[in-house]
This record gives sequence, C-alpha cells and structure tokens, in this order.
Amino acid sequence: MNMISLPRPTCPYCDAAMRRWPLGQAVLACDTCRRPIVRYLAQPSSRIFRLRPVYTVIYVAAFVVLLLTLALIAFNPVETRHIIPAIAIPIAMFGACDIADGWLSWRTSIDRGWRTLRRGKAARAIGLARGLFGIAGVAVAIIGLLAYDEMAGSPRPGTPSPKIAAGRT
Ligand SMILES: [Zn+2]
Repeated sequence: MNMISLPRPTCPYCDAAMRRWPLGQAVLACDTCRRPIVRYLAQPSSRIFRLRPVYTVIYVAAFVVLLLTLALIAFNPVETRHIIPAIAIPIAMFGACDIADGWLSWRTSIDRGWRTLRRGKAARAIGLARGLFGIAGVAVAIIGLLAYDEMAGSPRPGTPSPKIAAGRT
C-alpha cells in the first residue's frame, strides 16, 4: 500500500474513496461502484469543487426540461400533439439513466436510491428492476415519438387521434 499524500475524493454515489482526480479531467469513474462522477466548479471565486454522479445530473436536467416545456405549453396554447415530444424526450432521458445505472447496480451490487445506499442482493434486484423500468420508459418514448411522427403526416379520417389530458381548459 502506498502512502496517501493528497486527500482523495469521496464518491458521492457509494461513499468510497476514489482515486486521485487527474488534473483537468471533468469526469472520473469510481473504482468501487463504477459510476461516472462529474466534477464541477461550484464557486469559481474560491475554487470549490462539487462531485455528482453523471446519471443524477442527467436525471435532474431531464426533470428541468420537462418542467420548462410543460410550463411553456401551459402558458402558450399549442396543438395537443406537441405535448408528446415534450414528454417523450425527458422520459427517454430518465429511461436511459435507469438502464445505465440499473445495469451498474446489477454488475457491482451497489445501488443508491434517492437516499439509501444498498449493497448485495437487494441492490442487484433493484438494479434489474430499474433497468427493465428504463427499457419500458424508452420504449414508451419511442412509441410516442412514432405516433407523433404519424400524426404530423396525413391525418387519416376515421381514426380518432389520442387525446392527452392537458389538465387545463
Ligand atoms: Zn462510487
């Protein structure tokens, strides 16, 4: 074992010590849970860095996209079908994260929910479930986008277009 001269970062996903962060690198995979971790400057003036799992960042970004587009639609009345890509794209992002994170939970037996860290069989089971859930989400998103594409083309008489409740009249 070599002596540790510099403080090693703690993984925000599994709380294990990571290897020393290479200079100028933004993303580093944790050796214990194998999650990619992104490092960003939280306070440029005092050079304080924050670490976040990449999938959490994508998850939050998708959630923000979803909220912004829904707010935009709520305040600007648009055709109902335009709601489909606004919802399908964030769902695809959530699904992709769940597939990647679930797969790693299965492989490493380490899984983190919003609060709790699980190891062993429970983590593997949750990882598998999350992976399947993610695949289902991506499938729903693809089906939705295909339906949207079809609706954009020639409208067929006789087939009622699926109405999505906008919750606003
Ligand atoms: Zn980790």
